[in-house]
Amino acid sequence: MKYNFRISIPRKVQNIMDKLYNSNYQAFIVGGCVRDSILGKEPEDWDIATNALPGEVKELFQKTADTGILHGTVTVFIEKSSFEVTTYRIDGEYTDLRKPKSVTFTSSIEEDLSRRDFTINAIAYSHETGIVDPFGGVSDIREKIIRTVEDPDKRFNEDALRMLRAIRFSAQLGFSIEEKTLKSIGKNSSLIDSISSERIRDELTKILLSDNPLCFSLLMDTNLIRYALPEFEPCFLTGQDNPYHSYNVAEHSLRSVANIEKDKVLRWTMLLHDIGKPGTKTTDSKGIDHFYNHQQLSVKLSRTAMMRLKFDKKSMDKILLLIRCHDMHIKDEPKSVRKAMHRVGEDMFECLLMVIEADKKAQNPRLLEERTKKFTRLWKIYKEIKEKDQCTNLKSLAVNGDDLIAIGIKPGKEIKELLNSLLEKVIEEPKLNRKEILLNLIRKHNRTE
Ligand code: ATP
Ligand code: MG
Repeated sequence: MKYNFRISIPRKVQNIMDKLYNSNYQAFIVGGCVRDSILGKEPEDWDIATNALPGEVKELFQKTADTGILHGTVTVFIEKSSFEVTTYRIDGEYTDLRKPKSVTFTSSIEEDLSRRDFTINAIAYSHETGIVDPFGGVSDIREKIIRTVEDPDKRFNEDALRMLRAIRFSAQLGFSIEEKTLKSIGKNSSLIDSISSERIRDELTKILLSDNPLCFSLLMDTNLIRYALPEFEPCFLTGQDNPYHSYNVAEHSLRSVANIEKDKVLRWTMLLHDIGKPGTKTTDSKGIDHFYNHQQLSVKLSRTAMMRLKFDKKSMDKILLLIRCHDMHIKDEPKSVRKAMHRVGEDMFECLLMVIEADKKAQNPRLLEERTKKFTRLWKIYKEIKEKDQCTNLKSLAVNGDDLIAIGIKPGKEIKELLNSLLEKVIEEPKLNRKEILLNLIRKHNRTE
């Protein structure tokens, strides 16, 4: 099919292509940027493919870096931006299901396109030639279909990561996976074991951060979950017969992911917060399901999963804290909000409130209206506490250890205990947070002892 597209190419990218042209080389934009342009979306980065060899590319441009030179990729710097220019290549024989043993350069753009994963990613474009689309990618973009270039079994055996990429693109673009491609993922799911945990983590994160996190359930449909995140699999099989819930654990968790903003820590927290439910489920004599203390098991299983997926420590600590506290009961009254702020720490409180809100709003739709009102009140109370700069931690208490020593308290453990008991009082009654008042409280306390 011949298409009369004109894709608007940024000036710096066009400059690189012109320079290659003027030296009698071919140059195309390829991959994600062509796909996104056809979809009318702003591409994140622009990749250029050329028949010039890496050495020839380096000679043409002033500032370059050998980022992936073995695979034919040279990074070209133009002003403060950088672009990847990759020589047309065909991948050599695949040995470890991931990295081809060798790459061979080719002079044919069509051959280069044939090594790419999906038809929607195997389109090239230049103003001179127009669209190069040997595998029907444009039509698949229009029909919103993800389909491997050529035989899916063969392509997934070459590189198992492509199976996760298929689901990731499905979630990011809102496309469906073509039947043969989907079946092939089911058949080859165990191959994902050969992929490094970092790569698995990054693809799962992209699914969670997408517009359609409910697509995560495709991991169950294709059996990939068993290899990518086995701790989560039982959630798909655990119902919740309970007046507060309308969904099984997995569906509830994924809905809660969709309810929270696109942030890595928050979205992983929502995915994992109830992962301990399958292991703690009990059913009472009335047939109602309970999940007592599931938070603790959620923390344990999440820690195991995140360690395996090599999460950075900072994110992991935040996620575990939020999971541990996700069922904290906060009443819509200032005292209760201040207590919660004290318990999780002021820096994490906003995140926790977002988590609790996303969780509650993904339970029973019949309770949604009432809960929405409650959370509006909670956020308002929280904002007022911040505006009034009310004290919820030792740092902002009007007295410190030195003040207590100055009125004759012996240095040591007692000081800390006294400060904490003053803080408790101030959290109950913010008006008390004045130095004189607090010191008087201590004096009175000492007199009555
Ligand atoms: P994104 O918006 O996530 O960057 P993208 O399509 O640009 O999407 P990249 O991972 O940046 O994805 O890869 C760029 C291009 O390289 C893809 O469009 C595809 O043509 C090709 N490609 C990337 N990974 C693979 C792979 N595992 N197998 C085959 N082709 C791949
Ligand atoms: Mg890209």
